[in-house]
Amino acid sequence: MSILENSVVSITLGLEDYKSSDDRRLISCTRNLAAGILLLFKHKLELLSPPDSNEALIKQKVMPVLQADGGILWVGDGRKTVDVQQIKDRFKSLNISADWKKFDEVIRYRNDIEHYYSQLNRESVERIISKSLGVIRDFSENELEESALSLLGEDNWKVLLEVDEIYEKEKSKCVESLESLDFFDPVIFEAFTQYCCSECGSDLIESDSSDTNANLVSYSCKACGGSFGYETVAASAVGEHFAFDAHMSVKDGGDLPVVDCPECLEGVYLFQQGICSSCGFEGEHSCVRCEAQIPPEEFDGSGACGYCSYMAEKIMHE
Ligand SMILES: [Zn+2]
Ligand SMILES: [Zn+2]
Ligand SMILES: [Zn+2]
Repeated sequence: MSILENSVVSITLGLEDYKSSDDRRLISCTRNLAAGILLLFKHKLELLSPPDSNEALIKQKVMPVLQADGGILWVGDGRKTVDVQQIKDRFKSLNISADWKKFDEVIRYRNDIEHYYSQLNRESVERIISKSLGVIRDFSENELEESALSLLGEDNWKVLLEVDEIYEKEKSKCVESLESLDFFDPVIFEAFTQYCCSECGSDLIESDSSDTNANLVSYSCKACGGSFGYETVAASAVGEHFAFDAHMSVKDGGDLPVVDCPECLEGVYLFQQGICSSCGFEGEHSCVRCEAQIPPEEFDGSGACGYCSYMAEKIMHE
């Protein structure tokens, strides 16, 4: 079977798992969809591999081989094929585009479903089917020059479209309920719309009341029925939202986007926006003593920079 045929079989099996009434098959649905997408990506790398290179672009290891004419040909070595990160790297250097944001959500859910979630439900898997549809549709049209419909066949495509419609409808209702609330900062609203339930992984999170302050209401997961207080969602959602920026600032230097809130101690303080996402505390960002800007790592809510705090402490103890 070709890689492309394998990909279509995997996706078909995944959708059959979804249609089954046995909820245990939701795990294999997720695995099959993720595998199907990865195979679709590998199919593209296979197409681009030079002839006689033993499909170099899909092999983890590539070795130079001297040709009769004195030239060098890079040839795939061994059976191991590229992993997710290698696919991303090769796509980047070959200028192949894919919807990595949606793809990462699919892969992350596949990884988390077996280890973290205590609840397994159809709604959270519908989100993954909807994201998969987005990835497959874009990739087949943009990179394989074929419609997803002709690639996957009418039956599969119909299921994907139906699930996508159900999910999008539910998701927009949830976003609407969040939109009616007043958040301390718009970025917190954005983080809430991306937040996934800690129990089941669904992002169908809605507020229990509308038209009021976001920090005064509680939130429910439409998929598993879990209920969460504002601070719980805010701390995870905002932390998650800035995780990548925080990682990059540690790696490449630059200001930390968020710090622990010195006021409530449990909230995530948005340094750039100057407000705690949990308690709404707005700290002083320039030192009350020397007027210098206080960097995030010295921000302790006292209003003084690290140096002035240290000097004040020293004087007190003398
Ligand atoms: Zn849930
Ligand atoms: Zn706080
Ligand atoms: Zn100072």
